[in-house]
Amino acid sequence: MNITTVVGARPQFIKAAVVSREIAREAERRPLTERIVHTGQHFDANMSDVFFEELGIPAPAHHLGIGGGTHGQNTGRMIEAIESVLLDERPDVVLVYGDTDSTVAAALAAVKLNIPIAHVEAGLRSFNRRMPEEINRVITDHVSDLLFTPTAAAVENLAREGISSAAVQAVGDVMLDATIDFASRAERESTILEQLGCTSGAYILATVHRQENTDSPAVMKAVVDAFAAVSRPIVWPLHPRARRRLHEFGLTVPATVVVTEPLGYLDMVKLEKHARLIATDSGGVQKEAYFHGVPCVTMREETEWRELVDAGWNVLVPPGSGRLGEALEALFSTGPAESRSMSIYGDGQAAKRIVDGLLGFASTPAAWTASGRAADATAPPIAARPDWSAA
Ligand code: UDP
Repeated sequence: MNITTVVGARPQFIKAAVVSREIAREAERRPLTERIVHTGQHFDANMSDVFFEELGIPAPAHHLGIGGGTHGQNTGRMIEAIESVLLDERPDVVLVYGDTDSTVAAALAAVKLNIPIAHVEAGLRSFNRRMPEEINRVITDHVSDLLFTPTAAAVENLAREGISSAAVQAVGDVMLDATIDFASRAERESTILEQLGCTSGAYILATVHRQENTDSPAVMKAVVDAFAAVSRPIVWPLHPRARRRLHEFGLTVPATVVVTEPLGYLDMVKLEKHARLIATDSGGVQKEAYFHGVPCVTMREETEWRELVDAGWNVLVPPGSGRLGEALEALFSTGPAESRSMSIYGDGQAAKRIVDGLLGFASTPAAWTASGRAADATAPPIAARPDWSAA
């Protein structure tokens, strides 16, 4: 079986790291290959290369170098470039992750070539269609043939949208696999606490990168004002978009906040694990807070990871609400709850189940048929480039 994996953004590198490792393990026993396409959506060394190096992700076979444009520009250029790669490689399946422009571009390129698509982290919904990520998720799920879901809520969302249950596999969350795999290494190898002068259990770790927050001057000001009002030390690894917007909006980060460049995964995991409180608008960081037993304030109106709010580990506080500073102070004082159950995100074996699912899919045409695409006798096979362009 030949897999073409398409990634392009930081969280996708982390998710792909654990699955690629499992694919490599399985490839020792049977004919199985993975070729990675990096779209270039995240291109800074500390948003991309560091993850390939630290997490041992195989080097991309193709680097498309597409990033820095608008959503439409990036997605359009990616579809064209990914189509070209797929026509050359003719994989048995295209593997995509999450909800970025790279995800939806790969899915659209593959579906038009009638190549099966497997989507890791399928079924998540914020029910907020103003978010670009929500559009990417919905489209990708509806053209995918194998949908690997991380949570029970994700399975329910897909059922509600009429996606065939035969195509859905509840595998658990690959980010739990990553946390389990890398937490002890982070503990041993990272010296970030010493570098930043942080005391374990005595600081807030903050991240902000979502467009709905970074692109509004009022919201960015509210975040900065709230951080200034909090009496606790805050560490804020700045996403490039947040850094750009702070500069454009003429906002100054208060001196009490330790600002860093985006961090590698091992440093980030170590900072998460030793934080007293995490404040974020990131999907991945919300869950990692839970995995490490750290309370979390999510700076958004809603979250795809609803179960954390229901369990009381995550509190939603939109930055523009005027309540952010107060919420951070209060939760810092309260500290973590007594207990938590990891089982809502599986058992740390999601990557293995994904690879089993891919191999099973290859050997069982029934699953492929469930999508309705393989059942269509008139569907053309993947054509050689000249024939296809003539179609
Ligand atoms: N992360 C990292 N360095 C940072 C900030 C985040 O390694 O400076 C990791 C974080 O631990 C998590 C992932 O990046 O695993 C989350 O990515 P991001 O917040 O960019 O995207 P989202 O999860 O919201 O899709």
